[in-house]
Amino acid sequence: MSSDPTIFDAILAGDIPCHRVYEDEHVLAFLDIAPLSHGHVLVIPKERAAQMDDLSDEAAAALGRVLPRLCRAVMSATGCEAYNLLQNNGAEAHQAVFHVHIHIIPKFADGSGLGLKWNSRELTSPEELASAIQAAC
Ligand code: AMP
Repeated sequence: MSSDPTIFDAILAGDIPCHRVYEDEHVLAFLDIAPLSHGHVLVIPKERAAQMDDLSDEAAAALGRVLPRLCRAVMSATGCEAYNLLQNNGAEAHQAVFHVHIHIIPKFADGSGLGLKWNSRELTSPEELASAIQAAC
């Protein structure tokens, strides 16, 4: 985890360009520079936070408020009917830029979009686990 400046701070400051698709007081959204599919968008809070668990409630609320609208806009502009939201936290979870961001990734019939390997496992000790998470909330 890091709260050091990242390339997204440089984008927010206007020091490096981006293809902006949305901006308000708390949120910026722009095209991913290496898209998994046509219309791949990144949505970031202006607040600097490396991971979702570092983010303030206010910044999280601002992100959540605008997400459905951005999803609809990506669907409308690209014609996609399916899409994934992806949000990586930590290098082991494939995070490369340590500033919170949500990917909106259209999925198309040609297979472009997010590839997923869903390694489901058996649910173990659900009562203890649910209680532990509940107690930590
Ligand atoms: P993640 O693996 O979740 O940290 O994803 C980081 C994303 O940021 C990748 O999809 C990159 O292609 C994207 N990215 C990195 N630099 C830029 C940039 N300058 N402009 C737009 N997207 C970027």
